[in-house]
Amino acid sequence: MDGWMGRMLEVDLEKGSFRERELDPELLTRWLGGRGLGVKLLYDRALGVEPLHPSNPLIFAVGPLTGTPVPTAGRFSLVSRSPLTGTVFDCNSGGRWGVGLKRCGLDVLLVTGRSPEPVYLEVSEAGARLHPADDLWGRTVSEVMTRLGAAHPGAGVAAIGPAGENGCLLASIMNDGSRALGRGGLGAVMGSKNLKAVVVQGRSRVSVSRPGKLSFVLGESRRWIKGNPVTAVGLPRFGTAVLVNLMNELGVFPSNNFQHSRFPGAESISGEVLEERHLEKRRACWGCPIGCGRVTRAGGLRGEGPEYETLWSLGAQCGVDDLEKVVLANYLCNDLGLDTISAGSVIGCCMELSERGLVEGGPRFGDADAVLGLLEDMALGRGLGRELARGSRRFAEARGAVEYAMQVKGLELPAYDPRGLQGQGLSFATSNRGGCHLRAYLVGPEVLGIPKMVDRKSTTDKPGLTIFAQNLNAGVDSLVLCRFLQFALSDEYFARMLEAVTGIPYKAMDLHRIGERIWNLERLYNLRCGMDPAEDTLPPRLLREPVAEGPAAGRVVLLREMLPLYYRARGWDERGIPDPRKLAALGLPE
Ligand code: SF4
Repeated sequence: MDGWMGRMLEVDLEKGSFRERELDPELLTRWLGGRGLGVKLLYDRALGVEPLHPSNPLIFAVGPLTGTPVPTAGRFSLVSRSPLTGTVFDCNSGGRWGVGLKRCGLDVLLVTGRSPEPVYLEVSEAGARLHPADDLWGRTVSEVMTRLGAAHPGAGVAAIGPAGENGCLLASIMNDGSRALGRGGLGAVMGSKNLKAVVVQGRSRVSVSRPGKLSFVLGESRRWIKGNPVTAVGLPRFGTAVLVNLMNELGVFPSNNFQHSRFPGAESISGEVLEERHLEKRRACWGCPIGCGRVTRAGGLRGEGPEYETLWSLGAQCGVDDLEKVVLANYLCNDLGLDTISAGSVIGCCMELSERGLVEGGPRFGDADAVLGLLEDMALGRGLGRELARGSRRFAEARGAVEYAMQVKGLELPAYDPRGLQGQGLSFATSNRGGCHLRAYLVGPEVLGIPKMVDRKSTTDKPGLTIFAQNLNAGVDSLVLCRFLQFALSDEYFARMLEAVTGIPYKAMDLHRIGERIWNLERLYNLRCGMDPAEDTLPPRLLREPVAEGPAAGRVVLLREMLPLYYRARGWDERGIPDPRKLAALGLPE
């Protein structure tokens, strides 16, 4: 098939066995790849399996556009059940690992079982092998990258750090140095399998059905990317950090565990200051003309980042305005294999509980050195860090103060105060993987005016807009492309690229329909794993404590106004259960 390789490799670490099989073309055309294909395989094979059980699979999947000349088509997805949220979970990452997997002639690598000893997995066109990894166990991500990079020159390496080995529920999987499958603790799933790293290297070519048509669409696309202020100037010049000052000015940049919606020290941790003091050069993922990555230097070290979300989580969320310490904390997270958003957020939660007298001798807001120490303790399972490693919901629950955990469905919220962004509030509450901005990035229309500006303080039309974005993003995550491409390109372009590569006449509506199918299957997975729809909510602070000052003053999230309309527009009943007729229309099991 053009676009797809049509093959999947299954690895059982318990038995040390490998099985390659053909993928049904209908499965590929209906679910595309990446997130969609991964969720479908997870539902069919492991519904209800506990996250850290050996049978919970790690499903690495690429998409039909991966490895083609389409911009940003070097990404890949990882789908599994999250030990942090208990929900279905997908992450996607840039770098070049995804292209490496596809060039092995595979669309999917599915790993189950628990190896009796630490191992790393090597995949190539010739097959796969398990190697002992005793000498890598306990090593940091950068040490593993260096060693495996030398042993397998030119290969893509995805690896966990000590956090994943030690079962930290905030553990990430890193690839290509500093690119992360960050959220949901999937690094702990990998660690529970005694799998330290996956190395991919291949040379298979991806066949394109209509190269002439593709190059015409790509020519037009490049013009849009070059003409868009976000993809042509904002992201390349400042990276995602460009958002710090903007969000702070709009009063939607939370600080001190969302007690405030602005941060007095925002300027000191902004993208502009980062560029001035720490930036060495810009960096792009494979095949990306935007290049939002930053190579930086701080404290005699060199690394990548921090991104906007990280400047917030390790900075404003913890009341820290010392940029150098934030950059160093980011490097530390990358090396230990920790999700920067959740790690910073749980520390911020702990700081509030300390100041309320609920954590004896705990850290205080603004203490940058405490942040650095706690990151290490979390990854190594020491002292207070061992409690924090279970995420903010469990941590605050154990102290009888779950209302101070700024999370949805167990996943820590990212860097936007939704009291000033009503649509983003609804998006957080209804996200299938919990408190995440990437399911529906309504910051696009509510702040950046992309595709058009809407009133961020109003609830009008937000349910429909949220559903539109959730469905489209599920489709784009299945292609698998970078979310930032959507600042410049519409759904029409994605469909035209998909049609040119596969030769199948996909239209923009098909992408939305596939996305809707994915969204509903994710919902079914969660419900059938025991999720209560009442979890479609936000921390009480955001629903009941109005913002004290600034442009969002006096506001809370009006979730009760929006949620019933959202359910109805989704074709779900008033409790949030998908209607059987909706499921039948999408070709999903009742
Ligand atoms: S825009 Fe940034 S994250 Fe997206 S593919 Fe390019 S470099 Fe990677």
